[in-house]
Amino acid sequence: MTSTSVPFEYAPAPESRSIVSIAPSYGLFIDGEFVDGTGEPFTTVNPATEEVLTEVSSGSAADVDRAVRAARRAFEKTWGPMRPADRGKYLFRIARLLQERAREFAVLESLDNGKPIRESRDVDVPLAAAQFFYYAGWADKLDHVGLGTRPRPLGVAGQVIPWNFPLLMLAWKVAPALAAGNTVVLKPAETTPLTALLFAEVCRQADLPAGVVNIVTGAGDTGRAVVEHDDVDKVAFTGSTDVGRSIARAVAGTRKKLTLELGGKAANIVFDDAPIDQAVEGIVQGIFFNQGHVCCAGSRLLVQESIHDEVIASLQRRIGTLRVGDPLDKNTDIGAINSAEQLARIRELSDIGEAEGAQRWQPACELPDRGFWYPPTIFTDVSPAHRIARDEIFGPVLSVLTFRTPDEAVAKANNTTYGLSAGIWSEKGSRILQIANQLRAGVVWANTFNKFDPTSPFGGYKQSGYGREGGRHGLAAYLEGAEQ
Ligand code: NAD
Ligand code: MG
Repeated sequence: MTSTSVPFEYAPAPESRSIVSIAPSYGLFIDGEFVDGTGEPFTTVNPATEEVLTEVSSGSAADVDRAVRAARRAFEKTWGPMRPADRGKYLFRIARLLQERAREFAVLESLDNGKPIRESRDVDVPLAAAQFFYYAGWADKLDHVGLGTRPRPLGVAGQVIPWNFPLLMLAWKVAPALAAGNTVVLKPAETTPLTALLFAEVCRQADLPAGVVNIVTGAGDTGRAVVEHDDVDKVAFTGSTDVGRSIARAVAGTRKKLTLELGGKAANIVFDDAPIDQAVEGIVQGIFFNQGHVCCAGSRLLVQESIHDEVIASLQRRIGTLRVGDPLDKNTDIGAINSAEQLARIRELSDIGEAEGAQRWQPACELPDRGFWYPPTIFTDVSPAHRIARDEIFGPVLSVLTFRTPDEAVAKANNTTYGLSAGIWSEKGSRILQIANQLRAGVVWANTFNKFDPTSPFGGYKQSGYGREGGRHGLAAYLEGAEQ
């Protein structure tokens, strides 16, 4: 704090949780009904308090089979034969219901996931609704997407999603699948099943025909049962590279189509001609948004050597103003880490960073006594060989490397097994275009970071996966004979 600044404290501004009513237990959503699962039920907690929120059914292979059969019936009898314009009407209706119930979804997402209400309210839920609006518009225009005339749906899609953007990842998967005329069986992540179950309620409210959307909660075994079911035509997975690899193996040699959205270790490249204040905001947004639980997070900062000290000093000042704490407080910037396991992984990789010789810096900040928390952290003196420069940490931890020339920046940025996203900060448009063309990353942001839009395709190179979600490209993954 400089001598001219005035000490300033925010008053608490908690969002009320009274809009949300959580039942003591939840079943699976199969064929338009909530039914008990036959697996061992499990609990989901609020990671900010460790409070148990509710008990959730676990889908066994037999339950998954029931869900796939319901989806097949709906595909053959109702959803498949339906006029595309009518399918579009259902999707518009779902989109509007997501908007109408936005506050409920936002509070529930923050409770179950730990993310700040500011983000669930302003990013996750509006983008989920936007995804449905966008694909609703495509439902009756599939002949015009450049994927051949009369493109046909694939059938039943088995979809498995992670915990970092629970409702938004559901929307990314369900909206294009339904718009293209498929039916779905979706498995949410085990630590964040609640907004998917609320979405099931929205499907009922929208009078969506039974079996078009089925939600089967459970852990990895339930996911495996979805992916490996013989009557699934398409598998869409978002999650870790390890699980993605095992799914690719399981699907190989079958007729199933596969889309994988996996991990990342994105370079955020700051050139010496970049507007520093703006870049610092972008660096913060790149790595601390959603506690860094973002597959496309800007987790490797590549900063030109001549401005390194200035950027780091400015970044440290800015990080010192970030508020870590209650996810339901509207002033919170960084919420809770999603689970004890994820917290352990972040701690372990950070400790390895220090042991390998990088310098750890964290602001003085008080963390709540209960719940899972990790302060915003930056590592300087990182070399490309360090684990923290190579492995995805998936937490609020930034690794800082330097470069001298544009060629060196490109070489270091591409020196990764991943290739999901990247950022470039420079005043010169010509430099941005020249560098962007050389980066092996699915999304390249220029003078911004972590911006998403349903019209824009998203996906990876190398171990970040294959296939694209979003935009016109996202439809190809759900249509027969269409190559992306
Ligand atoms: P994870 O791969 O363990 O879990 C993701 C989902 O897969 C969960 O629903 C889980 O229950 C399920 N699952 C686990 N084992 C399975 C199996 N054998 N078969 C089928 N399903 C299985 O991932 P995680 O550690 O929980 O999530 C974080 C990871 O997800 C990070 O590595 C991150 O980069 C990645 N991610 C990628 C994107 C993207 O768009 N590319 C988005 C979000 C997260
Ligand atoms: Mg939870």
